[in-house]
Amino acid sequence: MSIGENVRDVKRRIAEAAVKSGRKSEDILLVGVTKTIDVERIRELLNIGVRDLGENRPQELCEKYPVLGGEPQWHLIGHLQTNKVKSIIDKVVLIHSVDSLRLAEEINKRALQRVMDVLVEINIASEPTKHGIQPEFALDFIQQVQELSNINLKGLMCVAPNVDDPEKNRYYFKKMRELLIDINCGHVHNKDLTELSMGMTNDYETAVEEGATIVRVGTGIFGSRRY
Ligand SMILES: *Cc1c(COP(=O)(O)O)cnc(C)c1O
Repeated sequence: MSIGENVRDVKRRIAEAAVKSGRKSEDILLVGVTKTIDVERIRELLNIGVRDLGENRPQELCEKYPVLGGEPQWHLIGHLQTNKVKSIIDKVVLIHSVDSLRLAEEINKRALQRVMDVLVEINIASEPTKHGIQPEFALDFIQQVQELSNINLKGLMCVAPNVDDPEKNRYYFKKMRELLIDINCGHVHNKDLTELSMGMTNDYETAVEEGATIVRVGTGIFGSRRY
């Protein structure tokens, strides 16, 4: 299938899952994940109106950024090292992967004249191979992040376990939503967190059914990646 057909299919599935959670398709943002994808194919995606693009490596984002001009809205979705903050902070609309106080402080310092929108990454299944704050430390962490005045914390992000059956991740998506509610009810943060970035090609429908507001889809749009 073409990129256009794939995007139509993904959007239809998002809309159906949104209805199941009492929402509309417009309530869910589709981020097209463009890692390893060349700029020609990314332009195709832009031409059919998907402007929110996700990259997981700062260097790749910095390479594509000048080539694609002002049209994309870039999201940094992968692990971010402190020493790379400076190179991407003026290029992205949202950093999904804040996972340490050191990183949050560096973003706060480098944001200078602006306020940077961020999400806190949660290691929702406490997997040793994954980045992210452990769920039990999330409230404390968020209390610390909200002290930083150049950071606008908008919500939480997770990369759920790599499973064959997306139903196996439903429990973790529910847990993410419960965590967001706990944070908001506990008035841990000075304003309500609204965003849940969760769900990838394999499990985005389940994630939307459980309350995702942002899904990150690569393979479902471009086909499998060749590294
Ligand atoms: C690669 C990646 C995705 C997209 O994965 P697909 O399975 O290709 O949809 C989403 N989120 C993050 C953080 C990624 O690194």
